[in-house]
Amino acid sequence: MSSETEPSAYRLDRGASLDALRNAPLLELGRRAFDRKRALCGDRVTYVRNRHVNPTNLCVYACAFCDFAAKRGDDHAYSLTDDEILAGLADPSIREAHIVGGLWPKWGFDRSTALVRRIRAARPDLHIKAFTAVEVAYFARMEQTDAESVLREMIDAGVDMMPGGGAEVLSARVHRALYPDKIGPDEWIEIHEKAHCLGLPSNATLLFGHIETDEEIVDHLLRLRELEDRAPGFQSFIPLAYLPGTTRLAPRPPGAPRCLRIVALARLVLDNVPHVKAYTPTLGVETAAAALTFGADDLDGTLGHERIMQYAGTAAPAAMSARLMDRMIRQAGQTPVERDGVFDPVANASPALAAT
Ligand code: SF4
Repeated sequence: MSSETEPSAYRLDRGASLDALRNAPLLELGRRAFDRKRALCGDRVTYVRNRHVNPTNLCVYACAFCDFAAKRGDDHAYSLTDDEILAGLADPSIREAHIVGGLWPKWGFDRSTALVRRIRAARPDLHIKAFTAVEVAYFARMEQTDAESVLREMIDAGVDMMPGGGAEVLSARVHRALYPDKIGPDEWIEIHEKAHCLGLPSNATLLFGHIETDEEIVDHLLRLRELEDRAPGFQSFIPLAYLPGTTRLAPRPPGAPRCLRIVALARLVLDNVPHVKAYTPTLGVETAAAALTFGADDLDGTLGHERIMQYAGTAAPAAMSARLMDRMIRQAGQTPVERDGVFDPVANASPALAAT
């Protein structure tokens, strides 16, 4: 289910993409994206029983849009133990672990890969999605090695896929303005390209709704599409709506029409990326449900205990039930399918309507 995407015969170029983002009637854009989604996977919309693991929010950086990170002594600083993390992954119905956290010397590379090895030993069947390109670059710097060596070690430890976080907006201007200390667009692309070349698939994100321009959104999508042409390996694209929290780069989060416009544009521009996710923690439950008729084909996920967007003040729940996702998908006129970490249907899925 994960690698059948072919580029469309007619690709949106930069001008057409920008015109669609700015001028296309919203419902028409949504219909085009929904048609494309249906051509790719019919009426099926997938969801996953997963758990987000954010080992610590202690972070040496201070990105201007981030409400999650903490410094030592902050009231909201926390660090989980390995045993707490393993206990959260013990439920055999959980198919996927999504591991990302703050960058902190005590959560260095050895400890992080040791955690992956413990999870792998305890749950050989679990799909482990771990460590963003930002974390890979940090580990490489701390270990005085290169990103490729870090990626090889991650694979050896049992990592199955890289998450898509840390891309923010692939723009040198936004990088300078909001997160100059951590990796910028070129290094993010380089690390994902290396991962793909090593056979490690990944996801990609876009954080929109703060200081970025329309041109920067389109250029972001085009850079992802170029990378996928050159070194295939993206499994999905996840549009992340900025939540102001206490950071206030924008007075309010992007509204539903803007979110749906970005979802639809992504489905049309990223014609070589198999999946577009509707991610409830940033879109909110109602907009995520609407996104299923604007080109998104996956709801991510039960979450377990998502923390990053909770700190940013999302109104969405930190955990979702399979029952609710099933209902959202049906109400969108689509057919719910429980999937595993590589987007294959779960053969012996327990009925979502009986699940919590
Ligand atoms: S976005 Fe990530 S790297 Fe930046 S401050 Fe927050 S946790 Fe740290």
